[in-house]
Formats: sequence, C-alpha cells, structure tokens
Amino acid sequence: MTVDVPIAIVGAGLGGLAAAVALHHHGYRAVVFDKTRALGEVGGPLGISPQTLRLFKTWGILAEFEKISSATPCFEDRDQNGRLLKVTEYAAAPEEGTDHGRFGYADAEMAPRTVHRADLHALLVSAVGNAEIRLNHRLADIVERDDHVQLVFNDEVTARAGLVIGADGLRSTVRKLFSHDDMHYCGSVIFRAVSPAACLRDLGPNDRLRAWHSADRAKHMITMPVRSGRQVAVDATLGVDEPPAHLWSARADLEALAMQFDEFDPVVPRMIRSATGPVFMHPVYDRDPIERWTTQRIALLGDAAHPMTPFGGQGANQAIQDAGELAAQLGRVRDGSYAVALQQYQRVRTDQTAEIQRAARGYAQRRATIVTRLADIVGS
Ligand SMILES: Cc1cc2nc3c(=O)[nH]c(=O)nc-3n(C[C@H](O)[C@H](O)[C@H](O)COP(=O)(O)OP(=O)(O)OC[C@H]3O[C@@H](n4cnc5c(N)ncnc54)[C@H](O)[C@@H]3O)c2cc1C
Repeated sequence: MTVDVPIAIVGAGLGGLAAAVALHHHGYRAVVFDKTRALGEVGGPLGISPQTLRLFKTWGILAEFEKISSATPCFEDRDQNGRLLKVTEYAAAPEEGTDHGRFGYADAEMAPRTVHRADLHALLVSAVGNAEIRLNHRLADIVERDDHVQLVFNDEVTARAGLVIGADGLRSTVRKLFSHDDMHYCGSVIFRAVSPAACLRDLGPNDRLRAWHSADRAKHMITMPVRSGRQVAVDATLGVDEPPAHLWSARADLEALAMQFDEFDPVVPRMIRSATGPVFMHPVYDRDPIERWTTQRIALLGDAAHPMTPFGGQGANQAIQDAGELAAQLGRVRDGSYAVALQQYQRVRTDQTAEIQRAARGYAQRRATIVTRLADIVGS
C-alpha cells in the first residue's frame, strides 16, 4: 500500500508534534507517523522558557498551555542538608555568564513555566488532531528521489512525501542519512516521580523550581510544580559510572531509591516515598553535534538533530524552537522549492543548538559518579 502526503513528520514526540502545529499555522498540512502503538502518560517535568512560550502564543495554544502548567518565577538551589545556596529570579537581568540568561530563561516580561511532559504532549496531540497522527508506523527505510521522498514503515506501508521532517529522537533512523555517530553515555541515571505538593509543606508554596545536591553533585534532585501546582514532579539523579543499557527504563524500587537520599534534607526522600505512580529509570545519553541536518527534501529536528543531556533544561525547548524556525522558513516558500528554506533553517539552528549540547554535556561531566548497584534500586 502507498499513501501520498504533502509533508511527513517521523516521530510524534514534542518536536514532531510542535512541527505539525507550526506548519499548520503557516498553511501546510503535515501527517505525523510514530512507531508507538499508543501515546501514553510518559516522562517527567519540563521547564518551558519564555522564548518557547512566545511560539505557543503565535500558534494560538498559549492559553490552553497556561491551564496545564505553572508560572515559575525563580529557582532555588540548596545543598543536600537543605541550606539555601542561591535564589535565581528569572525576571532580573542575568549576571554575566549565568546559564538562565544564556538559554533564554531570564525575561523581564514573562516567567518560565513548568509542565509535566505528558500534559504538554496531550495538548499538542489535540492541537494536531488524531486524524493526522498515524501510530504503529515504524520507519524502516527512507530514500530521497528528485521529486519526492519515499518512506517505508513496518516493511510494508510506503508513503511518498514532498518533504520529510525526521523528529524520531535520540535513536533516530532518519539521522543515519547524515551521520553514523554513536550515542554517548553521560554518567547519570535519572529517576522520575510525581508526588503530592503537600510534600513541600515545610518549604512554602509549590511555585518554583527547587534543587538539592551533594557537594560532589553525584546525587541531585530537582523539583518542579506540575498539574497547576497540585503535584510536584521530581527528577532524582545518581551519578553512575557504568552505562546501564540493559536496564533501560526499568522500574525503581521506591524504598531502595529513597534510601540513596536518606542523608539529604528529609523532604527529599519523603518526595520519593510519596510518589503517586511507578518511577522509571532513564539513563542519560547524548551525541556530538553534527553540522548538516538537511538535504533538498529532508530535515532533522529535535533530539534527532541535537540530542542533549536534560541538565540545561533545553531538550524540549530547542525541539520546539526548531519547529518554529523550520515552519517560519517554509512559510516563505511560494513555489514548493523547499531546499533553500531547509538550508536557512540549518544555518540558523545548528550553531545555537551545538553550543547548548556542549554546555549540557558539561553539566553532566561536572557531576561525580558513585559506585552504585543499579540492580539494587530497580525493582525485579
Ligand atoms: C518517553 C519519553 C519521555 C521523556 N521524558 C522527558 C522528561 O521527562 N523530561 C525531559 O526533559 N525530557 C524528556 N524526554 C526528552 C524530551 O522530550 C526531548 O528531549 C525533547 O522533547 C525532544 O523531543 P523529540 O520530539 O525530538 O524526541 P522524542 O521525544 O524522543 O520523540 C521521538 C519520537 O519518535 C518516535 N520514533 C523513534 N523512532 C521511530 C521510527 N523508526 N519510526 C517512527 N517513529 C519513531 C518515538 O516513538 C518518539 O515518539 C522524553 C522523551 C521520551 C521519548
């Protein structure tokens, strides 16, 4: 069977869906293909920067986004005993060299917001519409011809598209057209939980980002308000020297995980023990930057183009900003000749995202690793 689509997006993650929304705003119809059988309740907290919020405004989804997210005007950094080290106010002018200014979080007019990935994902799905999302389509092969791109899914369905956006994440199949680089394990594993906001009662309202870390940063926790502040989403990170590939996305034993943080401020293990659902492990991988993301009819976007560690809070933001730039460039195309727009997109986005990839890897590298038996933390 062969289907013809004007624009095919491979990957219904935040990047692919944002691209579909942005392209629709510029008058294009795109069909999104994803290998997954069902779009589920997965992921953890995301910080969304004012630059990204302005794109949501342009696309007409900011009001809905505000209903599912929380304004977070500041970030509190604490040592493992809970002693406050620094408060960063995002509305203040950033001190030179600080990260929140560098990555677009500092903004005098608009506060960043935090959201659970699953809630933002659901909002983008509803903005795109289920009719334009084809699940159970695993891309197996992609071939570019003079006048179209041919995609083969599950070795049986073929699609022909005038333009293809490869938004298929860290393990991208489309990226293989551009690079055969390997994934790089960054020495950390993250455990993601959601807990009741009441866990934070000793610290005040659930209206800001908060972090605790050991002196060597081998153990680290960051929390963000989600579900309009009713819950707090928790990323607990352990520096682990061995790449735990065989335990990808394993489920944690809550008590064993909490014990790793028992020497911390009591609020930290309390949040882990109070998790309202299963807690999964996510080893942190990235890749080196690459200079070429586009051909005449194919463009990479999001993690497929520039996978980065989550420690700069930028993976989702940069994917969405890619979508904004790519759609804006395509919006200037009048005669169906995409190549110049794709080149312009690549020119604008590669340097910025490469710089953030390197900085995000740097944050991972400054964390010590500890000898941890992950098998004792993940449940059987
Ligand atoms: C399940 C999940 C949970 C995450 N949770 C967090 C989080 O809690 N916090 C955080 O900061 N970041 C999280 N991330 C990463 C963050 O969402 C991304 O860095 C960022 O949003 C960029 O998204 P993306 O759309 O480029 O890639 P991704 O979000 O990785 O999406 C890629 C999509 O492509 C699909 N795909 C892959 N290969 C194929 C193929 N061959 N054929 C068809 N489809 C394919 C995948 O099923 C997936 O839906 C998560 C990513 C995933 C996939």
